[in-house]
Amino acid sequence: MSITIVKAKKFVTVSNLGTIDDGALVIQNGKILDIVPWHEIKLTYKDTTEITDYGNLTISPGLVDCHTHLLEFAPTSLYPVTKETQNLAAKAILLKTLASGITALGEQICGSPMLHSDVNELKNSIKDFPLDIAFATTSISIGLDPILHFTSVTGSLAVERDVLVQNNIIMSIAQHSEFAGENIFINATPANFTQDLIPNAGEIIYSQEELNTIVSIFHSMNRKIGTHVAGEKGIDMALNAGFDVLHHAHGITNEQIKQAANQNIKIVATPLGGTHLLPNTIEEVMKMHDANITVAISSDGFLPPHKNTVTFPKIMQGLIGPDSLMAIANPYLKAMIQNGISENEALALITLNPAKILEKDNRFGSLEIGKDANFLVSEGIPGVEIVDVEKIKAVYFRGEKMIQRNV
Ligand SMILES: [Zn+2]
Repeated sequence: MSITIVKAKKFVTVSNLGTIDDGALVIQNGKILDIVPWHEIKLTYKDTTEITDYGNLTISPGLVDCHTHLLEFAPTSLYPVTKETQNLAAKAILLKTLASGITALGEQICGSPMLHSDVNELKNSIKDFPLDIAFATTSISIGLDPILHFTSVTGSLAVERDVLVQNNIIMSIAQHSEFAGENIFINATPANFTQDLIPNAGEIIYSQEELNTIVSIFHSMNRKIGTHVAGEKGIDMALNAGFDVLHHAHGITNEQIKQAANQNIKIVATPLGGTHLLPNTIEEVMKMHDANITVAISSDGFLPPHKNTVTFPKIMQGLIGPDSLMAIANPYLKAMIQNGISENEALALITLNPAKILEKDNRFGSLEIGKDANFLVSEGIPGVEIVDVEKIKAVYFRGEKMIQRNV
């Protein structure tokens, strides 16, 4: 099979190789065949004629947003579509996501009155889209009055709370879940409703015993399980039940960070909001990283940003999604680097770490031999030096250039 080479001033690999200056990436069959300094490549692959030289630009792994709601809620929230055109909206959202440097997503399917189709139909309609999409099937509890519960199994009809803890429902959710997403909501969520409509946001929905049972069912089926959780009490329950991934974990205490680290629990921080509490602080995320927790930053998009998100430009209004992932992560990654953490380790929060949460880090998340050639070419390190998607000049998925901006 033919070999292509991509050359650039700087490669941030997010692997043991660290940053390579004047490097080159060798691609064959959509995978990374080699990645070394250019002067070494020249000798080994001297007969290769297909060389793309990106000059002074930076190459880094495709970004990974491991907690999104793009297909279920976003199409009808962002576009005035009907059942007939809903799928076009989904594709428009995915295209914008890809154009923002994201090559992999962790989608949550919660069961929603806003989705006018069967989930399998939806999955099928986007299966050829050049993005790795992993699906987490979930139940959801929304903090309205009264609290409304849905599940991915029962679809668009609200169900009684007790349905959420039925063995057959949990087993069916577990069976279809491809990674530890927010499979259950320990606390009722504000969702995208305004404050006045969700007096019950934050309410704890389960007993400790119920959580223990749910986790053990997932584990007995060889599935990892994650949870939407915030606040000391809910997080304590999640830690005790042995969830594999905490989503949000807003308000986590220092003691709980230690405990999560000891139990090898991963965390998905969502700086824009998503729970009844204030979003994760920079200090919180730094402490998670320092405790050696696999921590990812995710958009949870599309979401109206919490009014006290100290880290996000106030000018951005309305619903924010993965096309803003670089901007969302930027204050966190910059602070890490200011504290002496390497650019590779910082960039891992939106590349390798979310790939680990999707259980796909053997396929993507870093630039390493044998992994998929998913990468972006940009005018600086994404989320660290640049936040504007216009500075992403090309996005490659499995070795093919899918996006280009006047390079
Ligand atoms: Zn969510």
